Amino acid sequence: MKEIVMIRDKAELARELTENQYFYAEWRKRSQHERHQRHQEMLARGRPPEDLNRANWHGIATTRGGRRFQIGLKVLNECEYSGCFNCFLYHEAACTAVTPENILAQFDNALAANRLDVVVGKQGPRWGDPGNADVDQIDFNGSGSFLNHNETPREAQLMIFRRLAAMPFRNILIESRIEYAEIDQVRRLRGILRPDQTLTVAIGLESADDVIRELAIHKGYDLKDFEVCVEALAGVGADVLVYALVRPAFITEAEAFEDSLNTGRYLARLAERVRAATGNRDFDLTMKLEPAFIQEGGFLHFLLQLSEIAAVEGEEPLYETPWSFTVAGIVETLIAEGVADLINLQIGRSTDFPPPIAVTRNRDHEEDLRANGGRGSSERLDEALQDYNVDHDAGRLAAAVRDVIRAYPRTHAAWLAKVGRSCATVAA
Ligand code: SF4
Repeated sequence: MKEIVMIRDKAELARELTENQYFYAEWRKRSQHERHQRHQEMLARGRPPEDLNRANWHGIATTRGGRRFQIGLKVLNECEYSGCFNCFLYHEAACTAVTPENILAQFDNALAANRLDVVVGKQGPRWGDPGNADVDQIDFNGSGSFLNHNETPREAQLMIFRRLAAMPFRNILIESRIEYAEIDQVRRLRGILRPDQTLTVAIGLESADDVIRELAIHKGYDLKDFEVCVEALAGVGADVLVYALVRPAFITEAEAFEDSLNTGRYLARLAERVRAATGNRDFDLTMKLEPAFIQEGGFLHFLLQLSEIAAVEGEEPLYETPWSFTVAGIVETLIAEGVADLINLQIGRSTDFPPPIAVTRNRDHEEDLRANGGRGSSERLDEALQDYNVDHDAGRLAAAVRDVIRAYPRTHAAWLAKVGRSCATVAA
């Protein structure tokens, strides 16, 4: 196995990341100024009519054993924290005129648009369209915290959960920062659901490394507080999904690779500890790898623009989205180490609202592309990873990744040179 290159020691990393905070302060100043200008222009023009009964986005994606319906509701306020370097999800995703009735109408309309109409039979509720029989999960992937009542009012939370209790969804996923995950409210929402339904609270930890989480992501959590929150949620019968960002700002590809492995190992240990401490042996902890993407106007976009200027002068870029081989390598290594036996490992896609302008991808070599009729290697890896989400078939994933490596040898060699390592099966 080759040595890992381009990985800084902790002190050097902390020092360089601290110096880089300057870029964030600069972007924040600019973006606030631009926002103010846009607001003034809008006031002068008059606010365009907005359909408050339409969610920001919705769609169907994969999950273990089936598919999930995702919805990004337009709520009252954007993420109250709005401080994570990698995120611009909160940007213009809310409207203070939204009422709880609007939010419920968004929910109903999005379900109808995806042909998820409920039929109640002797066996309980089911989808009218048999083609949707495997859609047994719903994810509220908003632009902040579902549990923050300043964003999604309590009344709207309760109205939606009452609806959910009469629907075929078996698992309900809501997102929250830890400071809004009030246990009494979680217990109340859990209590509305049927006993055969589960509730998962999704938390963005992003990285288990304190230096990376604070100085490269600016998450604003202490690891101890995160652990207390996870244990409390497990104690009231909720499962937890933890987002782990693949390649935060200012981190090299090799460091990003190691960081996600470190986070996966930490989460496996945490899941075991929480099961023992709460006596909840069914507690399910999902690690959701989130390959980074860039949204227009966000901080990563700012770094990308600076990187383009730097490239002209032959300097290293400040930010690049990760390679798909990195995501596949992280998954295969966590499987090989047994981590995926202790937690549910899932892989996200680079899609969201507002739509990204740059996503996780391999930088395919021209000859590889020609040899594959113009089809990129990322598309094939993404498909294999999404299949793994559903069936957790490690053998099938390894075979699919090996096929991609054989079909795109120059691209793979370029990736290996970048991460400076051979990992479990990705280098086979
Ligand atoms: S990642 Fe979540 S908590 Fe962080 S700014 Fe975005 S919406 Fe807010």
